[in-house]
Amino acid sequence: MPPETALWNRVEQTAHEVFATFGYGEIRPPIFEPTELFARAVGGETDIVSKEMYSFPDPPQTPMEFVQATLGRIGQEQFALLESDPEKLQDFMRELAELQDVTLVSLRPEATASVCRAYIEHNMQQLPQPVKLYYVGPMFRRERPQKGRYRQFYQIGAEVLGGSDAPAIDAEVIEMLMTYFDKVGLHGATLYINSIGHNADNCRRGYVAQLRTALEKVKDKLGPDSQRRIDTNPLRVLDSKLESEQAIIATLPHIADHLCDDCKAHYAAVKRQLEIRGVLYEENWRLVRGLDYYMRTTFEITAPGLGSQNAVCGGGRYDGLVELLGGPPTKGIGFAIGEDRLILSLQESGKGQKGQGRDVYIAWMGEHAYAAAIHAAKDLRKAGLSVELPPVEQKFGKALGQADKLGAKYALILGDNEVSEGLWTLKTLSTGEQEKFPEPELIEFLRQQKNVSSYL
Ligand code: ATP
Ligand code: MG
Repeated sequence: MPPETALWNRVEQTAHEVFATFGYGEIRPPIFEPTELFARAVGGETDIVSKEMYSFPDPPQTPMEFVQATLGRIGQEQFALLESDPEKLQDFMRELAELQDVTLVSLRPEATASVCRAYIEHNMQQLPQPVKLYYVGPMFRRERPQKGRYRQFYQIGAEVLGGSDAPAIDAEVIEMLMTYFDKVGLHGATLYINSIGHNADNCRRGYVAQLRTALEKVKDKLGPDSQRRIDTNPLRVLDSKLESEQAIIATLPHIADHLCDDCKAHYAAVKRQLEIRGVLYEENWRLVRGLDYYMRTTFEITAPGLGSQNAVCGGGRYDGLVELLGGPPTKGIGFAIGEDRLILSLQESGKGQKGQGRDVYIAWMGEHAYAAAIHAAKDLRKAGLSVELPPVEQKFGKALGQADKLGAKYALILGDNEVSEGLWTLKTLSTGEQEKFPEPELIEFLRQQKNVSSYL
């Protein structure tokens, strides 16, 4: 709602401007896509796919209606079981859909998969490479709502697809992000980077095997989530925020010691490139990110004032993703900013814009004055000023009170006298000062004031 939407608009407008200076074009992917796209791209073991997606059969039915209709009547016990376990229900629904050849669709939980699909579907590999795209819009995840975590939230993201995997590309993507955060006025952001190598025995696969062995040894000291992840996705254990697990995690092997020569060189070059660009970073060996598609460079940015939900941006390289979705081998890297959290952080630091008041409130009295007021409003609005023109005549005192409540800078006082004299009165509401101007000069004066303040 206003006035907050003014801040949202400023944050989005700045993204359009900054990203354009780096040569990115906007893409608007659809709000829902076949579930299969996300299941494949994001990965079945991730939180997003296993329990956070809103998925529906197409044509629409609730998941339970779908399950019931497909199975005839399922037993009471099984019904209760599915109803109490959304993860199981999702799994079950997906299995049935496959058996019955029914399409499932999902509200998009993220947009990278859609952008890669569009790249393939629209033959963007035939454009000059790399193709640089960005998007702004809502994403949907079924999570427990809390500060900085919502079921409909907004992301501002960008992807670089095709061309090479030169470390300069990674560095420039990050440079653009930090330039953007600086421009919107986010202070105190910290950039964390890491490299998670690539999927080969002499690189990440070898590391994961060692990590798994190390984790097996301390299994009984870990919580149930981490215990499960030893089998399904041991890297995710490093993500754990559980206080009781921190000391144990600190003793685990680091991936930096297991990168292959190419990945090691790539990581070193990304860091060097960041330094040349004057981008400050901190290395965090535990930064693995939750999505399956990442490789090599991963990064995350935290911001102050957000409590435990302090990540405002996550991203990384995903060279295999386009191919996984049926396209040609294609390099890729991207990020997604959590816009809600960015806004929260700006507000916490007092950078949230105050209510946008009117520039001018026209206090008119009398028939002639009204006609003049309508024309004055037209001229001022044309010059870009925000003008409030009351639809019915008001007593002078009431008009000024109203102007004050709306946060107007000036009241333009127009009575029949002023109109016949051709001298209009302008009251600066913050000081109470009044000045008389001939009409054309007054319009010109306000126009200039507007220019000065939009310049500042
Ligand atoms: P988290 O660990 O906080 O759940 P994530 O790894 O799921 O984050 P990504 O998928 O990388 O997040 O999304 C990028 C950014 O989008 C996050 O850094 C965060 O700022 C924002 N984000 C993710 N989920 C939500 C949500 N439910 N509500 C608000 N913002 C979110
Ligand atoms: Mg999450």
